[in-house]
Amino acid sequence: MHYFKYKNSELYAEDVPVSKIVEKAGTPLYIYSHKTFLQHLNAYKNAFNGYNHTICFALKANSNSAILRLLAKNGSGADVVSGGELFLALKAGIPAKKIVYAGVGKTDDEIAYALKSRILMFNVESADELKAINRVAARLGVNAPIALRVNPDIDPKTHPYISTGLKESKFGIPIEDALEHYRFAKKLSNIEILGIHKHIGSQITKIRPFVDALKKVLVLADNLQRSGINIKHLDVGGGLGIDYNNDSPPNPEDLSKAILPLLKKYNFNLIIIEPGRSIAGNAGILVTKALYLKHHPKKEFVIVDAGMNDLIRPSLYNSFHNIVPVRKNSRKKVNVDIVGPICESGDFLGKNRKINRVMQGELLAVMSAGAYGFTMSSTYNSRPRPAEVLVKGNKFFIIREREEYSDLDRRIKMPEFLK
Ligand SMILES: *Cc1c(COP(=O)(O)O)cnc(C)c1O
Repeated sequence: MHYFKYKNSELYAEDVPVSKIVEKAGTPLYIYSHKTFLQHLNAYKNAFNGYNHTICFALKANSNSAILRLLAKNGSGADVVSGGELFLALKAGIPAKKIVYAGVGKTDDEIAYALKSRILMFNVESADELKAINRVAARLGVNAPIALRVNPDIDPKTHPYISTGLKESKFGIPIEDALEHYRFAKKLSNIEILGIHKHIGSQITKIRPFVDALKKVLVLADNLQRSGINIKHLDVGGGLGIDYNNDSPPNPEDLSKAILPLLKKYNFNLIIIEPGRSIAGNAGILVTKALYLKHHPKKEFVIVDAGMNDLIRPSLYNSFHNIVPVRKNSRKKVNVDIVGPICESGDFLGKNRKINRVMQGELLAVMSAGAYGFTMSSTYNSRPRPAEVLVKGNKFFIIREREEYSDLDRRIKMPEFLK
């Protein structure tokens, strides 16, 4: 569900015509719907209502500070994977006690920052990291609250680049080694064991992998109990898919209905859920303008002003985003590749799309671009990053200004001898 709909052939973001926003903010442009964000967050809240829970929004999906503030004001916590994300989460007003910190490569500085901020817990991904956290915590004279991220070796049946819970994955601790790692953690003077964490991948469109992974984790919890290690918090990670192309993914309620009954005989005092994509994904679109049309003997191209530097998912994962005209028309349907201006053959937004013929200067909307869109953007080809707009009802707000050329060399220092 989202609030980007046509009214009289015009695409609207909530109650504002997309074309009107573009007049003010230009293209390429990310547009987000306030109401859609809230609806998705509330779906999680309602689904897990019966259990003491914290919803930790995964910042890597979308870390615009205005979006984070909106989520913070509505009770969201944060799942962060870097010091930068921790900074943004705290600054947006997300309470430290609702922040969990994952990632395979935390530095000493990042660990110290998180300890001083008093986050809820670290989701630890290796024995070396446990030692590092223990060492930094000892130096600061505090105890570090941790969960171990275990890798349950479950195939989430998604793109290999976004599968994280298989044996060959760099993430987490293999579940068969977990008990030993917990025993090791227990011996460390400045480590406080709080929980178990798992996150098996992203854009998962079936419930089964979540259930299979959880069952394995619960067997581990039993084993830990028997070894005198009490687990208080269960962090089930994120990964729920969204509808990019008739995927019909489960919703948060399907997820809670499948997993909460499994927890009956356990006395966890908190369940943590870490959704990213399923909150932000279809709460945003990327609007782009057709610059040129090009006919090759075997292909027709629409060259648009948004490229892989603005939205890399099609290039990186070959992922599908629906692409629709901002103003509907009844021209003949043609088969086209919608490509960006970047000097790379891999720079495309959509291939072999059957759409009504596009004219130069017309606007197209790349749907479901609210997650892993702007956050993965770059300035490749020295293209300033796009602006971001948040729509609320009949009002819209620029929540990130478009970068300018002068942003491209902002941090450059010219050596004296080259001046
Ligand atoms: C990326 C990530 C998430 C969010 O995944 P989504 O598929 O966007 O829900 C949650 N937890 C961890 C540890 C992650 O790395």
